[in-house]
Amino acid sequence: MKILVINAGSSSLKFQLIDMDNEAVIAKGLVERIGTVDPTTDLTYEWDGKKIKQIQLKKAANHAEAMAFVLDVLQGKDRTDLEVAPDDARGHLKDTAVIADLKEIGAVGHRVLHGGEKFTASTVIDDAVIAAIEENIPLGPLHNPANLMGIRACQEVLPEVPQVAVFDTAFHQTMPPKAFRYAIPNEYYTELHIRKYGFHGTSHRYIADRSQELLGLPKGNRVIICHLGNGSSLSACVDGKCVDTTMGITPLDGLVMGTRCGTLDPAVVEFICNRKNMTPSEVLSMMNKKSGLLGLTGSSDMRDVTARYEAGEPDAKLAIDMWGYVLRKYIGSFAAAMGGVDAIIFTAGIGENDAAGRARAVEGLEFMGVKIDPEKNAGIRGVEAKISADDSKVQVWVIPTNEELAIARDTLELATK
Ligand code: ADP
Repeated sequence: MKILVINAGSSSLKFQLIDMDNEAVIAKGLVERIGTVDPTTDLTYEWDGKKIKQIQLKKAANHAEAMAFVLDVLQGKDRTDLEVAPDDARGHLKDTAVIADLKEIGAVGHRVLHGGEKFTASTVIDDAVIAAIEENIPLGPLHNPANLMGIRACQEVLPEVPQVAVFDTAFHQTMPPKAFRYAIPNEYYTELHIRKYGFHGTSHRYIADRSQELLGLPKGNRVIICHLGNGSSLSACVDGKCVDTTMGITPLDGLVMGTRCGTLDPAVVEFICNRKNMTPSEVLSMMNKKSGLLGLTGSSDMRDVTARYEAGEPDAKLAIDMWGYVLRKYIGSFAAAMGGVDAIIFTAGIGENDAAGRARAVEGLEFMGVKIDPEKNAGIRGVEAKISADDSKVQVWVIPTNEELAIARDTLELATK
């Protein structure tokens, strides 16, 4: 069966078509500028191994139009509203075809940001599920409405095809109350559902499952998963089940990230509001979009910041030092919370590719039995590999994540039940 995986943002739509017979990606792409003031909607499309094409449509007014566009491209159906001259090679979609008929798409899996406390696992989408995702909009005000647009767009253009929702929060629902509650009066939890939810759950679950297959750990094993990308979070897992995580009611909490500040004293918000005449929303937007590596250095990209660190720039040095320090503190605190740690796993953009970043993450942790082999670490980029020294008590691994495949696997399982 072929499964279409959709990750819808407010003006964008990422997709992958996966052949579940061999779990291979048939085609993938990103549609940008949906329903914006821009004159065109842009699709970057990759198929057939490594063919890439930039296709511009005159305009997709909404996600349903963008989905219809994607389905035409997948079928290689020419359109008259492409933003290129008809004799331009880019104006033909015939060579983009990877399916002959929409019937080949067996199911659609959607990434949904916030499942609140309702969703502890992926689920087939029906009216009640849509209503529950809507109910969670206050918890995920930017993402859940966009995810719903993606779901409704697919229902419109693929009405007969089962749709599945896979939640970023679901994996973390196994946390015990002592980990997920905040120490504020009970009514804020009972009335408003204020608690730690955690995010990147699809990635953490994929890595947690893989850790149980790959590492040969005994029952009761304790693993810390470091998902270090633009957004970053850790999870503490016992036997592959989450017992704690660094992100909170929103993805702002925890580590120093590309553009997010991570943990700070919440009183900072009121202080800035008063002194800078800003609203709480404006302060939170600053903390989400202009902070972290970006706020400290002017760049959110770890590659840039590292290059500037190596060139001796003081801002970059402070940013990298803080990034590593906060990360090590959380690794240490999760090891303490679990009474020890058997394995630490790195994943996502930085975790999979940045050997220096991985070394900083565990620097000085020899006291708790963590010792990486510098040579093994240096050579590893984007592949599964053990990077700890042979005499390290704690196994340290790189395991590439694959959120789309995790979504597709859940979708296949639920759609064929
Ligand atoms: P997202 O959260 O957007 O999915 P990714 O998982 O793609 O993010 O991670 C993006 C981050 O990974 C960026 O900070 C980027 O600089 C970093 N990254 C990617 N490759 C490397 C590399 N070779 N060295 C250091 N950092 C890298």
